[in-house]
Amino acid sequence: MGVSHTLLLETPTGAEQSAPVCLLWGPTTNTVSLAASRSILRGFNMDFETETDTCDSCGNHAVVVRAIEGDAIRECEVCGNLEGPADLIELLELQREADGLGVSIDSFPLAQFIEGLPGVRIIGDSGGDKRQGTMPFVAFELADHRTWQLENLGQALRLMRAELECEWSLEFTYDFQMAFELHPRHDGKAKHSTEQVLAARRDLTKIWRRLNTYRGLSWWKQE
Ligand SMILES: [Zn+2]
Repeated sequence: MGVSHTLLLETPTGAEQSAPVCLLWGPTTNTVSLAASRSILRGFNMDFETETDTCDSCGNHAVVVRAIEGDAIRECEVCGNLEGPADLIELLELQREADGLGVSIDSFPLAQFIEGLPGVRIIGDSGGDKRQGTMPFVAFELADHRTWQLENLGQALRLMRAELECEWSLEFTYDFQMAFELHPRHDGKAKHSTEQVLAARRDLTKIWRRLNTYRGLSWWKQE
């Protein structure tokens, strides 16, 4: 897929540009109710099925299997035990946390990753809205006023672009404060199809997975 990323310099003007949804980050919690845990897989756009398989932790047979990028993760519906690749388990735990906080399970993991970059502060994120046809985004500011994390994210987008379903761009915005927004490139449509929103959500997961790998590589600027 011919995908490019650019650093667009523009200020939001038209009303068609949806204002970033500000999200105040509350204290994180590691305790998620079982009810929340159960709803996680149901909320996904992925295929899942209940196997008559046994949970390694509690021995029950209510194990739900979900496929992400060819990898499978198994979740026990009774005790919440997760089995699968370590990064997918971390992903699911972040999504449980998002569910508990009442925020988007699609954009929360990526927003958390970007928030964890030194010198960066998240100012909003959204997993998009299928009904309204709005696309996902993650907005952040550079608290240290340095560009190194933009270089990391820009290089990462360049490396993974062939794997992504949407064209993603890092856009400079100014709306009371200087900020950056990672989002699928605007195609001029005010409303996007459900399939476009779902494709962008799948990309959010891919971007999160790749960034977790890339940040350990030699080209990733650590300081
Ligand atoms: Zn179990």
